[in-house]
Amino acid sequence: MTDTLLRNVRVIDGSGAAPFAAEVLVSGNRIKALARRPATLAAAPDAVVVDGGGATLMPGLVEAHAHPSFINTPSSPALGEVPPEEHTLLTAKFAGLLLDHGFTALHSAASAKPRLDVVVRNAINAGDIVGPRMLAASLEMTVTSGLGDVRLNHLHRETFAVVADGPEEFRRWARFFVREGVDILKINPSGDEGTPGSKAHMTVMTDAEVAAVAEVAVAHEKRMAAHARSAGAVKMCLRHGVDVIYHATLCDEEALDMLEAAKDRVFVAPTIGITWSAYKEAPVRGVALPDAVKRRFDNELVRGIDNMKALHRRGVRVLPGGDYGFAFNPMPRNARDMEHFVTLFGFTPMEAIVAATRLGGELMAAGAGPGETERGAVELGQVKEDFLADLLLVDGDPSIDVTILQDPARLVAIMKDGIFHKAPTPQRQARPLAAE
Ligand SMILES: [Zn+2]
Repeated sequence: MTDTLLRNVRVIDGSGAAPFAAEVLVSGNRIKALARRPATLAAAPDAVVVDGGGATLMPGLVEAHAHPSFINTPSSPALGEVPPEEHTLLTAKFAGLLLDHGFTALHSAASAKPRLDVVVRNAINAGDIVGPRMLAASLEMTVTSGLGDVRLNHLHRETFAVVADGPEEFRRWARFFVREGVDILKINPSGDEGTPGSKAHMTVMTDAEVAAVAEVAVAHEKRMAAHARSAGAVKMCLRHGVDVIYHATLCDEEALDMLEAAKDRVFVAPTIGITWSAYKEAPVRGVALPDAVKRRFDNELVRGIDNMKALHRRGVRVLPGGDYGFAFNPMPRNARDMEHFVTLFGFTPMEAIVAATRLGGELMAAGAGPGETERGAVELGQVKEDFLADLLLVDGDPSIDVTILQDPARLVAIMKDGIFHKAPTPQRQARPLAAE
């Protein structure tokens, strides 16, 4: 494979360091060398040389709560109505669209049908289709009346979840998803404001049910992720070694303490995007929320914002990833979560970038199963020698204004695994060294 030398770039390396002028050499699928100006790098005579024109070179973005199979339907039951064949094609389409928008890696937070994530991940890895790196998830495993149980007593209806009751049923589903090839087992121990019987503050899975899935995850070296809005659900997940905790909005002091104690192991993604869209933008969409629902949303938003500020202060890894994938909170607007981190959680733009890159790289490499301290090697999420070459060349400085990452026109180039998914424009175009 031809080497690529990126010259005349300002590097945001993902570590949190201020941007610096540098040259970066990519060889194969890895970053081979990085030289801060005025040092320069030599490259092979046939290397492709890109003049960045002073643009920003940064790591590709990691989406910590991705749902490529949630295909922007207006509601969750609508996901159940899409036949698997169409659904597979659309999942591949949205995975590709996220790469077009700078997301070079996806940590799935649930697949809408059992094999959608798995098949798309495999096809990307085999080079059959183009898409980001992907960790594939199971369906959301929920309880009768829980988030995702949209069944009606008189009529068959499905959505994105499988419904299980008791540890034996949860164990069987977890093993089923292991057999089908998932990386991540997803559970819904709490509900949300859209679920009549299981609200956000309720903890609806039992300890034995969470333990059953955790046993399967440990035995098969899979990781676990949880939809845990309530304090009780967060604590239950921590007791059972769950590594990836989504939402965590209604944490109490004890849950915050437990998250802090586990901060070298756990990741939190608040998925503020969907809460913001569902509540703050609902009136804009002409959807009138009942007062009681509004009050609970307001409470969750206020507490969620306070809790994310507290977790960030305490050094817990809080990552962007906003449950994009519904008509009211659509893909590929996912980079908007970074703006929410700045405007709502008080992150600096650079801190939001670190969360979406370096911490995202740590998330993609995290331990194999619940409670595992053994880590996979971190090789994503930074512009650093020997790291995988997932890179963005950005017109402008996102460390001053993170919103520019929402505009695909500002993404001058997108590289995944050492190959340009989006090549630089002709003005910056690659030219052989010999021509200079
Ligand atoms: Zn989700």
